[in-house]
Amino acid sequence: MDLEHHLRYMRMATKLAKYALDHDETPVACIFVHTPTDQVVAYGMNDTNRSLTGIAHAEFMGIAQIQAKFGPLNTEIFRNITLYVTVEPCIMCASALKQLGIQKVVFGCGNERFGGNGSILRIHQDSSTAPENSHISVPGLLRKEAIMLLRYFYVRENERSPKPRAKANRKLDLETFPPMDWSIYLSKDGFTSLFGESLLEYYDKKLDLSEKLDWDLIDKNQDLFFQDLQNKCEQFSLQAAKKPKSQPVS
Ligand SMILES: [Zn+2]
Repeated sequence: MDLEHHLRYMRMATKLAKYALDHDETPVACIFVHTPTDQVVAYGMNDTNRSLTGIAHAEFMGIAQIQAKFGPLNTEIFRNITLYVTVEPCIMCASALKQLGIQKVVFGCGNERFGGNGSILRIHQDSSTAPENSHISVPGLLRKEAIMLLRYFYVRENERSPKPRAKANRKLDLETFPPMDWSIYLSKDGFTSLFGESLLEYYDKKLDLSEKLDWDLIDKNQDLFFQDLQNKCEQFSLQAAKKPKSQPVS
């Protein structure tokens, strides 16, 4: 697995989550990448607050973009798409992604309450729905950044609340993180096959692959990045996809 390649797109998803936060949304976001051409096809941000729609999760917003552009019945395209999302897909989104036949899912932090890629259920690899669409799920990339954005959000929400909840009214913790328990998502063999034997220490010691949090990613304004992302998605067409520029990344 080309870790740096995946990190490049996870950084984009993280910037987009920051953009969502700056626009009064829950900071969860995703990027859909067409692997044969290595191009961004679509993006999604959580839209539940603005739309007051409980199912307007980031993944659904991105899926809607793809379906609007390539047709609702075109599931073929998903077989060549890797999803990069800041938070583990919930059970609903994990199931939708699997039924559409997504190629691979890469995510940041786990979703302890609703996670469908290991935390609660393992939709991406179980036999409940579309077992023929089982796919690889890569956890833990830019996990601290994803957690910190959610902390920013909850502290801000609590400050805005007319009656701040005593329990939630804590100081923003900028330093401590729960251990990265890879075993929730991957067996040791699964970890080795994704990241290689040289990184097994991270699995055993429950460490993040990167010790330092990239503060620039989550503290900078991302308005220009967002414009650029929209342009990229508009430029993508299946016509271009028919002439692969590079080899798919495993
Ligand atoms: Zn979801």
